Amino acid sequence: MTKLDLAEIVKERYTPLKITTEAFAKANYLSQRVCELAEQPLELSFFLLGKAEDMVIRDIYLGREQNVNASFCEISESGVIGSVLDIQENYDLQILGWGHSHACWNNFYSNTDTITLKERERLWGVLKEVEISEDYLKNINLENSNEQYQSLDLDEGLINIFSEPVYSESALTTIDSYSEEMIVGLFQGMTFNAKADEPYCVVAYSQRDEEPVLLGELDYEIIEAGNCNYSPETNKQVLDEQLKERVIGLHYLLGD
Ligand SMILES: [Zn+2]
Repeated sequence: MTKLDLAEIVKERYTPLKITTEAFAKANYLSQRVCELAEQPLELSFFLLGKAEDMVIRDIYLGREQNVNASFCEISESGVIGSVLDIQENYDLQILGWGHSHACWNNFYSNTDTITLKERERLWGVLKEVEISEDYLKNINLENSNEQYQSLDLDEGLINIFSEPVYSESALTTIDSYSEEMIVGLFQGMTFNAKADEPYCVVAYSQRDEEPVLLGELDYEIIEAGNCNYSPETNKQVLDEQLKERVIGLHYLLGD
């Protein structure tokens, strides 16, 4: 099988990418709201959550400890760890991809975005389970993390997500059987913006021992599937609090 064949298979399987009504509404709300609160355009970084069985994005997780400006967003290393642990402990969902907002600008994938998504695919593939190595935790600054993440129980077996790819066998079952052995990682990407335009959707995938490949300009489909913590009427206050807690410096802008 040629590389082109595999690209076509992946593209076929993941066109369109699927996101629930609630998850899309939540991404749009957060993308708009951070700009309103700060009274300036700001990006945001998200984890796209779902189940590897169907790869539907069912919830949007606002990354912890993120630095943002009008054209940049990045979650700190301890923010990634805090986010991943929170997701593992409190959500019955896996990390299927990386999402980010483009503030007031259009949705597309920049060169930086492409590199970022490939990097995440290479490191994570589709996350089935992630545990953090004790050595790694010793070397990072957790001062800014929530207290609950400063006392971790590290007795169980450990995998260092930052040096070893984590491949998900279950995700492979969503690909045609004859390509299963070829693909070892899959990661979805979406950009959102404050205008609630259509998201820009991509998939990054890799073959063993090869550089990740990114397929861009995929269609998307919004489906009614529920299972998202977001409901527009009741959760705006919760999300506003998350924005103030997780976007570094936002509470200063708000004069708190
Ligand atoms: Zn971007």
